[in-house]
Amino acid sequence: MTDSTKTLCPYCGVGCGLEVSPPAAAGKATNRDSQGNPVWKVRGDKAHPSSQGMVCVKGATIAEAIAKSRLRYPMVRDSLNEEFRQVSWEEALEKIVNRIQTVRLTQGADAICMYGSGQFQTEDYYIAQKLMKGCLGTNNFDANSRLCMSSAVSGYIQSFGADGPPCCYEDLEQTDCAFLIGTNTAECHPIVFNRLNKYCKQNRNVKMVVVDPRYTTTAEAADLHLAIHPGTDIDLLNGIAHLLMRWGCIDLDFIEDCTSNFPAYAEVIQDYTPEMVAQKCGISAADLETAARYWKESKRVLSMWSMGVNQSSEGTAKVRTIINLHLMTGQIGKPGAGPFSLTGQPNAMGGREAGGLAHLLPGYRSVKNPQHRAELEQLWGLPTGSISSETGRNTWEIITGLESGEVGVLWIAATNPAVSMPDLERTKAALLRSPFTIYQDAYYPTETAAYAHVLLPAAQWSEKTGVMTNSERRVTLCSAFRQPPGEAKADWEIFAEVGRRLGFTEQFAFSAATQVYAEFTKVTRDRPCDMSGLSHERLRAEGPQQWPCPESELGKSDRHEKAKRLYTDFKFHTPDGRAKFAAYHSRGLAEPPDPQYPYVLTNGRLYGHWHTLTRTGRIDKIQQMHPNPFIEIHPRDAASLKINNDDWVEVRSRRGKAKFPAKVTKAIAPGTVFVPMHWGALWAEQAEANALTHPESCPDSKQPELKACAVQLIPL
Ligand code: SF4
Repeated sequence: MTDSTKTLCPYCGVGCGLEVSPPAAAGKATNRDSQGNPVWKVRGDKAHPSSQGMVCVKGATIAEAIAKSRLRYPMVRDSLNEEFRQVSWEEALEKIVNRIQTVRLTQGADAICMYGSGQFQTEDYYIAQKLMKGCLGTNNFDANSRLCMSSAVSGYIQSFGADGPPCCYEDLEQTDCAFLIGTNTAECHPIVFNRLNKYCKQNRNVKMVVVDPRYTTTAEAADLHLAIHPGTDIDLLNGIAHLLMRWGCIDLDFIEDCTSNFPAYAEVIQDYTPEMVAQKCGISAADLETAARYWKESKRVLSMWSMGVNQSSEGTAKVRTIINLHLMTGQIGKPGAGPFSLTGQPNAMGGREAGGLAHLLPGYRSVKNPQHRAELEQLWGLPTGSISSETGRNTWEIITGLESGEVGVLWIAATNPAVSMPDLERTKAALLRSPFTIYQDAYYPTETAAYAHVLLPAAQWSEKTGVMTNSERRVTLCSAFRQPPGEAKADWEIFAEVGRRLGFTEQFAFSAATQVYAEFTKVTRDRPCDMSGLSHERLRAEGPQQWPCPESELGKSDRHEKAKRLYTDFKFHTPDGRAKFAAYHSRGLAEPPDPQYPYVLTNGRLYGHWHTLTRTGRIDKIQQMHPNPFIEIHPRDAASLKINNDDWVEVRSRRGKAKFPAKVTKAIAPGTVFVPMHWGALWAEQAEANALTHPESCPDSKQPELKACAVQLIPL
């Protein structure tokens, strides 16, 4: 191991480059955390094109988190009432393999489910797909990306014929107008926001529009903030389209040459007059016209979104309606323009490339496509028909499968569903019914560990080598630079070992991650996400690379082209090569407010915290920044309920309840309340945002509407 290692921040999908060096240089004192563990030094990697040396507080403090509260040894117990006992890997694996074989024989392969994570490296994702979808013959692999990005995936596939964000971060500094909808970029994707905000400040003619029911840190920097009612995104987007159409500001040549289905869309947007849209969205017609005027006057509009759009029962429709605006104005495939989803997790993109959702196969393939299945069966050396043609259980269907007794083995890895799933009481009750749950994670305790029969210690970032892909399709090698604690192993090593013990020795004859990645990149050859020209060796020698990266580009002088965009030739992956307009009317929220539950609860991240606190909850600096959960209430609503700042408020939905101290603020619109989503049962009493949320999902992406549910507020 060298003195300093280049790697990638393992938190969010911005994917900032880091440079890490050992706890003490020769002759210097060792830096230690509050528990006395030596702490590696982390700084931004100035040479990383995505982040150019910048890091936020999470990246800067990651080294402190990785040594604390680790799961070090395999543990088992026969029932959830018993204490765990430490066992050897041999004993734990034998137990797992026996159970998988028994369930496969008695209930069938579809009784086995795996629930993975955008925290996986691509090698982990790939081997999990090969084990579940190829060797075991069930597509029951889903990941927490289902809760995060699956609406973006289905939106891109339906509009463009393939997944893949078409833009790159250089577009942040080449746009005329940044249109941010359903994203608090300043807190959730801070380095993307830093780049954009710096550019906007230096170029006063560049406009920033923020669409969010909350006046967030992002909105503070905007030229125009549209605080729409939750669930009215499609109305707003159709309203902008209506005005662009009325003003004749559409790209007829692009529409004619490169798209399909425009007439159906044009008919739908006719209804969206400024007066109607303003009334539905709760904004002024003048503000709507200003937003449309920014689109009209900008040669290059860059739309960005994240969970505020995706986590919706009409998430795919929202994504496609954003894309519609780019198609009608011809704003795609050009510098500074295009629809750009900001990925939540560090390697949700890699998961998509590796087929890490229940309807996907590696290399942007689909389980429903017979040719795709046949290609993989051949590449994996498996008999024809090994891969099922049935879409596997998605995240929520795993829960309903536990309820119905159809799931006999649940294998959860690198995620914490006992905090992050919707309708948490129902989720926990289902987890309690699981006959056999394997929980593979780096940390212990977590809320989900309480529901496990077997705990497997996973090596994490810094302790294993693998790659991750960030939101701009840039692939970075994350080399190991420290030893895993105890007997922890890389996730892919555990999956491969189980595969070998199940008899698939040839399929899992890997001894190093570099071999796994070499096979994975072969699987992507000639696919939209072609990475056949990548390898660990190349990434180590040449640094991070954006895909597509076909083998055929190797040796070409322009292969180091700085920023890659998709669709620069305006040819799409649909059968006719055209991008497809979608014609949607808004259906609104799945659970709108009513007299009994009169407020809309929305939720989100805080700048310093990550997901369910397994890492950031253990970092003193971040805990001091965000010590406690809270609920934001507009002064008008607070006054009507006689709630003052710091008063405790019980929040009830049809599914559960939670309590928070009040933060009375005009940052949240009247009628809407906001709570942070991070706190689980280990960290605060009755402050789980997901005790309140519901699992109603987008019919296409199956992504639950975590962002909005109806609640009542009771002052305590
Ligand atoms: Fe890490 Fe995201 Fe912060 Fe970058 S912006 S340092 S990737 S958490």
